[in-house]
Amino acid sequence: MKILEKRADILIIGGGAAGCFAALTLAKERPELSVVLLEKAGLRRSGCLAAGVNALNAYITPGHVPQDYVDYASKDADGIVREDLLLQMSEGLNDVTREVEKLGLVILKDKDGSYVSRGWRNLKINGENIKPILAKAVKAAKNIEVLEHVDVVDLLKDASGHAAGAWGVALREEAVVYVRARAVICATGGAAGLYRPNHPGEARHTMWYPPFNTGAGYAMGLRAGAEMTSFEMRFIALRCKDTIAPTGTLAQGVGAPQVNARGEKYQAKYGNTTSERLYAVVSENLAGRGPCYLETRGISEEAETSLEKAYLNMAPAQTMKWRETGLGPRTADVEVEGTEPYVVGGHTASGYWVDGDRQTTVPGLFAAGDVAGGCPQKYVTGAFVEGKIAARGAAKHVERAKAEAEHRTNATAANPAGNAQTSSYAPVQTPDEIVARVADLLAPPDEPPLFTVDALEEAMQQTMDEYAGGITTGYRYTERQLDLAAKHIDRITRLSGDLHADDAYGLLKIFELQERLLVCKVLIEHLKARKETRWHSFAENLDYPEKDEAFEKYVNSRLVDGKVEIILRDLVKKEKEAVR
Ligand SMILES: Cc1cc2nc3c(=O)[nH]c(=O)nc-3n(C[C@H](O)[C@H](O)[C@H](O)COP(=O)(O)OP(=O)(O)OC[C@H]3O[C@@H](n4cnc5c(N)ncnc54)[C@H](O)[C@@H]3O)c2cc1C
Repeated sequence: MKILEKRADILIIGGGAAGCFAALTLAKERPELSVVLLEKAGLRRSGCLAAGVNALNAYITPGHVPQDYVDYASKDADGIVREDLLLQMSEGLNDVTREVEKLGLVILKDKDGSYVSRGWRNLKINGENIKPILAKAVKAAKNIEVLEHVDVVDLLKDASGHAAGAWGVALREEAVVYVRARAVICATGGAAGLYRPNHPGEARHTMWYPPFNTGAGYAMGLRAGAEMTSFEMRFIALRCKDTIAPTGTLAQGVGAPQVNARGEKYQAKYGNTTSERLYAVVSENLAGRGPCYLETRGISEEAETSLEKAYLNMAPAQTMKWRETGLGPRTADVEVEGTEPYVVGGHTASGYWVDGDRQTTVPGLFAAGDVAGGCPQKYVTGAFVEGKIAARGAAKHVERAKAEAEHRTNATAANPAGNAQTSSYAPVQTPDEIVARVADLLAPPDEPPLFTVDALEEAMQQTMDEYAGGITTGYRYTERQLDLAAKHIDRITRLSGDLHADDAYGLLKIFELQERLLVCKVLIEHLKARKETRWHSFAENLDYPEKDEAFEKYVNSRLVDGKVEIILRDLVKKEKEAVR
């Protein structure tokens, strides 16, 4: 493979909502800094925003204050959130909304020119083109170099443990990409495809979360020694059956209540947090009262048309299903089901453990959006805010790094024999070492491997489904099952070491499998460590079916010598107690 080497002040990994906003912030506020953005797919249609969205789910509407949003998100996660991060994020929501509107996003307005809201924290938009709008602005920025179709595999660190860049594979050029940088922002989104999904075979990618957000950012951070938080707070979406389209538009848009097969409204029995809404459906199905629906029958013609349009903006399959079957929401209630579990820090609190600048525990490595933990319910606008905060934090870090480098040069001139105490930003791993590793994976094996990537991926998903609380078990698990899951995931990981690739795409598939396996391994340990059931369905531990005050803590983890080390941390309640 060829090698493509680059240098930048700041490297951004992942050009989704958070990555694009980080880039735009650096373009606007720090045009003197050089920035490289590596994106696995095409920037115009990648990540969560690929198909468009129809609402900005996080906004502070008139009559509300940021603290209201903190309270709401904290209640939804039963207290296991970083209130400091949530408050900082909430304070930035309205600014980024105005900024993205200026870029060209259509936000619906009423006759007085005020934004049209859906509920108290949600704005209606025409968001089919939100990603092309962001991509165009990023590509127009002079100090941002975008490399698309580059799958980033791992971070580079220098001898002092600072992040010093990253490397990946350019899928269309068959090249290794090696980028040295003084600061790195990881914005690769969450992890899908860990569990057996709703649909089999060719349809398996009909899932809610983007199938190509494989948890790469979590995996590279773990391998680099970064601390993670709250993986066990899985996110399982309640979605329209078959299309896996969002249900919020039905529930909030036309006020459709959940009903079971007997037409009974059951939600009040279970509570109304995000996990409780899912748990209600699971429980009604288990009790033999399923399937469950969102009751839309009888809505007006106007409401039906508006729903059809809304779904065209974000999940066109749902509108197509209504049209194809001739059973629109006015004629038939919409059946709902739970998806497979995801690890996604934009909905729940899983991800990197970060400080107020969104710096991780690896100096020089920042995280934003769904990959960053502690700050749930951030959605699109929250990811924008975090991208902005991380960009500012990374820029500050670069300034410090440059000053240190100058200091080091002066110190070395004064004392040539002295050892530098600070970071050198010279990666320990050389390009040649990485090319050799990749060449090894591309070399024809002595014997054909026993398993394909797809076979191992299926085995991984089956293990997670059956033993780590997937769809099959109604999202429930026991410690004994988790032990079995851990054993199988370790075995599959070992087998993945025998895989070989024919080309860059084959490499991508191996790397994706291996990063998912690592996320599964850490997730299982988190599920084991939380010996309580705080969030029904999201983490339903049958050995500990009740909530336990002893677990009013964050479950955090680090990878030490290939083993997962669990760290229980006290809750951070107020901004002044923010972890630095
Ligand atoms: C289907 C769906 C509908 C949604 N609807 C709404 C909505 O209506 N309103 C709302 O407010 N929120 C919505 N959300 C949530 C919101 O879109 C996300 O929270 C937000 O986009 C997350 O931003 P992010 O930058 O962290 O991730 P993403 O936007 O997904 O960006 C991650 C980027 O990283 C890239 N990447 C991944 N791995 C690698 C790698 N190894 N190397 C290089 N690049 C990599 C991906 O290709 C992607 O471009 C929705 C989410 C989904 C999945």
